[in-house]
Amino acid sequence: MCAGDAEHELEGPTPSRAPPRLLVLIDSEPESCAELVSQLECMAWEVRSFRSISEVLEVADLVPRAYFLDESVVHAGSAGELLVRAPSAQLIVMSERPSCLESRLRALRAGATAYVDKPPDINALLARLGDHALESHAGPARVLMVEDDRIVARHVAAVLRHAGIETEVVFDPAALLDTISDFRPDLVLMDMGLPGCTGLELAGVLRQDSRYVGLPIVFLTGDGAQSRRIAAFTQGADDFLTKPPNEERLITTIRSRVERARVLRGYMERDGLTGLFDRAAIDRRLARELEVARRRSAPVSVALIDLDFFKQINDRSGHAFGDSVLRTLSLTLRNFLRVGDSVGRYGGEEFMVVLPDATADYAERVIDRIRDRFESLALGRTSGEFRGATFSAGVASFPTLTSQATLVEAADAALYRAKEGGRNRVEAFRPAGRDDQSLAKRLCPDLRALAPRADDEGHRVR
Ligand code: GH3
Ligand code: MG
Ligand code: MG
Ligand code: MG
Repeated sequence: MCAGDAEHELEGPTPSRAPPRLLVLIDSEPESCAELVSQLECMAWEVRSFRSISEVLEVADLVPRAYFLDESVVHAGSAGELLVRAPSAQLIVMSERPSCLESRLRALRAGATAYVDKPPDINALLARLGDHALESHAGPARVLMVEDDRIVARHVAAVLRHAGIETEVVFDPAALLDTISDFRPDLVLMDMGLPGCTGLELAGVLRQDSRYVGLPIVFLTGDGAQSRRIAAFTQGADDFLTKPPNEERLITTIRSRVERARVLRGYMERDGLTGLFDRAAIDRRLARELEVARRRSAPVSVALIDLDFFKQINDRSGHAFGDSVLRTLSLTLRNFLRVGDSVGRYGGEEFMVVLPDATADYAERVIDRIRDRFESLALGRTSGEFRGATFSAGVASFPTLTSQATLVEAADAALYRAKEGGRNRVEAFRPAGRDDQSLAKRLCPDLRALAPRADDEGHRVR
């Protein structure tokens, strides 16, 4: 998760999402799906509408991620032909008669992968399309190798990289702690004999740090006898392999350890309703990004987002609908943030976004564009009286604010100002600006030193 390796791309898919974001809708009355289409377009999907299957088949080179078909257009033979054109596409049949067995059987025989209510629930659909797959943001496995023998290191790193595993090598144990917080590996591949300490001691050092308690550590040991000794007291070791490692065993071991660690971490850190980081996890992300930003003299921004009049939404349209608004907001945030940005559910209807390498000005623009997108999402189902939800947000950034506590407090103050100013807007905390001067003085005691920079809201520092 390299910060800043992709732009905030609000107009289309992010580079990490290589599969096509094209959907084909087939309905003899396309108007009946207008709302669905606009929701999908807001989530950066391209939707093409047709009135019949034969119309679709006339178009060459159409390879959508999914076909949405009204049940009335489904005929086994021609629906099958759609899948011949795009074998990995999903075939989703929409119906207003969910309990009609005959219609379901026809869909099944035509090869439908799903049968959903019409109009469908946008969150369920996006989930089905894999649109909120956390994995898409996880990227390739990342391995940090601690090895003082350059020949072994070069060889093993080449094997891993060839297998698509991002690999970095630390030759000197003294450099481990800096590299590990920068590189954020999923796994450490540890040599035993190192200059100045043993691999076991180094593993012990990592285990002392709460951030690395769950990090898998696999030892690479010189000989089998040593392996057995380690096995006897595997303090902190998850596995061990002997040198020279069997390539297949090495790769399989690493892949399965990384996958397991990611799944476990995912369950532990995620909020059940939205799938976003929970509060503790997003706080940890912020701490980590702040540490990296300090070391690199780079900016980092925090945004606090709070839904507007959410209590009224619940009161008017029901708690279940309120939940779907929360999920939709979380999907929107995930869709339009960069790989490397983190988003968490901070409280009931409050979210936190951490944007590495982003100045307050840049973060404000990004969040404001997401606000705009979210506002335009027609959230109500067909006859719901409630047609849209909005949010307000406050942004604050390092190095204007220097600690985690003041960053969050300043973002909260800016959020309060956005609410006071009429809601559905984004405000940034700028001590030299219109903010409450006594608050600014308390949060940024070095204000005078910062003053010339505070007006320089311009470009993004990378
Ligand atoms: P404001 O614009 O000032 O933020 O007004 P608000 O109504 O959004 O704020 P308030 O703090 O008065 O109400 C927040 C509501 O959020 C109250 C609570 O019932 C609701 N809420 C919190 N968590 C959940 C949840 O998980 N699901 C649903 N449906 N509602 C939730
Ligand atoms: Mg060695
Ligand atoms: Mg709130
Ligand atoms: Mg609110």
